[in-house]
Amino acid sequence: MQTKEPQAIRRVVIAGGGTAGWMAAAALSKTLGKLLDITLIESDEIGTVGVGEATIPTLLTFHNLLELNEQEVMAATQATFKLGISFEGWRNVGEDYIHSFGLTGTDHWTAGFQHFWLKGVERKLARDYGEYCLELKASQHQRFAHLPNGGMNYAYHLDASLYAKFLRKFSERFGVKRIEGKIGEVNTDAATGHITSLKLDSGATIEGDLFIDCTGFRALLIGQTMGIEYEDWSHWLLCDSAIAVQTASVGPALPLTRSIAHPSGWQWRIPLQHRVGNGKVYSSRYIDDDAARATLMGNLAGEPLTTPRLIKFQPGQRRETWHGNCVSLGLSSGFLEPIESTSIHLIQRGIIRLLQLFPSAGICQSEVDEYNRQSRAEIEHIRDFIILHYHVTNRDDSAFWRYCREMEIPASLRHRIELFRETGRVFRIENELFAENSWIQCMLGQGIMPKQHHQTADLMGDAELLHFLEGIRTRIEQTVKQLPPHQAYVQQYCAAAPPM
Ligand SMILES: Cc1cc2nc3c(=O)[nH]c(=O)nc-3n(C[C@H](O)[C@H](O)[C@H](O)COP(=O)(O)OP(=O)(O)OC[C@H]3O[C@@H](n4cnc5c(N)ncnc54)[C@H](O)[C@@H]3O)c2cc1C
Repeated sequence: MQTKEPQAIRRVVIAGGGTAGWMAAAALSKTLGKLLDITLIESDEIGTVGVGEATIPTLLTFHNLLELNEQEVMAATQATFKLGISFEGWRNVGEDYIHSFGLTGTDHWTAGFQHFWLKGVERKLARDYGEYCLELKASQHQRFAHLPNGGMNYAYHLDASLYAKFLRKFSERFGVKRIEGKIGEVNTDAATGHITSLKLDSGATIEGDLFIDCTGFRALLIGQTMGIEYEDWSHWLLCDSAIAVQTASVGPALPLTRSIAHPSGWQWRIPLQHRVGNGKVYSSRYIDDDAARATLMGNLAGEPLTTPRLIKFQPGQRRETWHGNCVSLGLSSGFLEPIESTSIHLIQRGIIRLLQLFPSAGICQSEVDEYNRQSRAEIEHIRDFIILHYHVTNRDDSAFWRYCREMEIPASLRHRIELFRETGRVFRIENELFAENSWIQCMLGQGIMPKQHHQTADLMGDAELLHFLEGIRTRIEQTVKQLPPHQAYVQQYCAAAPPM
């Protein structure tokens, strides 16, 4: 393959108009819209994956970058607040824990709060770890309010198709051109291998300098055209199928995503203002689609509003997420599974990284390599965090859980688990999404009890330690009492118009 002089990037073509496509269009048009000519192509006939409704707090950063008004976004997307995820039956059947978005307790610079809590447990002075976390307690009591100085960490549950519509309107205001049509052919330059244009079934040809593949699992550009291989992680992440269905709400919306473990996977419940999103995620090696559908339909709280939809996926990651003049975002670039709601976050990170490395003067391989290096590191950390949920469990009631318990795990994860089990210590790796408190909540929640704590905690006598722990706990208890019910807060803050 020949190399040519780099070509300045002015025409950006986004293939696909799901969450990934419209998030990319919104961010690129808002930040570089005056310098670029941006076109998005989407196909009504193909449609979008139609799931992806639980988010994590980093989405607030994305919305700040776009200068969006929170009340407007929430009202337009039938959104509710999310304070964490309730993991039900993951450690053991009948045992639950919450991975909340808040901080737990107060750290000392030498030792995290968990060391003081462990000492408290040893001395019978401490309650459950979650008692020292405001967001966790608020979610248990179904309460929510914005507190001064970002005193409450939260994310949203939102309707994915309304979110894409909202971002479409936003992007069009900033000059994005939308074309409805099916891409039938992807043309490339024989010398460089770069994509030159997309040919639609209508006969129209859309030329560009940089192409963003947001075509979902089809990966029409990065996979089918560029031939970039997909690295399969299904030996660690067994779930490869999902069935999704929407139901009517039967009670106030919880400020929590529910994740209910099953013998061969798990089930989600995502409460929105106008309905609840439900789905069963499972491994097709251990349960067939009909049986999975039957379990899901037998475990719904409200009247089904849609026909259950089957979605097949392969957990893994594209070996390069940027190749030549094609950057892949969203499902075309890789997908782990929905358990920790990290996919929209990865889209957002990909967009921010692309903006930071934007090749205005032409594509330079070192930029591409850096983009790919950062993307890989980011998804591998998240992959390890997700594997933790399956591997560290006391469940042995099914072949699925027995495989998960016994499987070989990545060395990076094995090290983290051993360090925590032996010493109670956790360190966040540079730029890693999940901070110490997420790891601690999930490692404790899945059943790891560290063998020791840091000596700093021993410097406190019993009375001082009890005073410290109770001080945190009672402050949280008092704050939670003053918060309004989540449902009432949503109603007065961002009530959506009734669905048409
Ligand atoms: C079961 C499941 C649950 C999930 N839950 C969550 C969650 O709770 N939180 C979260 O963060 N993420 C979740 N995700 C991931 C999330 O759904 C996706 O990351 C997000 O929706 C982005 O999808 P996408 O835009 O890449 O693809 P899609 O939504 O599939 O969009 C693809 C777009 O490409 C277009 N297209 C494809 N081929 C062509 C063509 N030939 N011509 C023209 N257009 C074309 C389609 O029309 C569509 O517009 C979940 C995923 C699954 C599978």
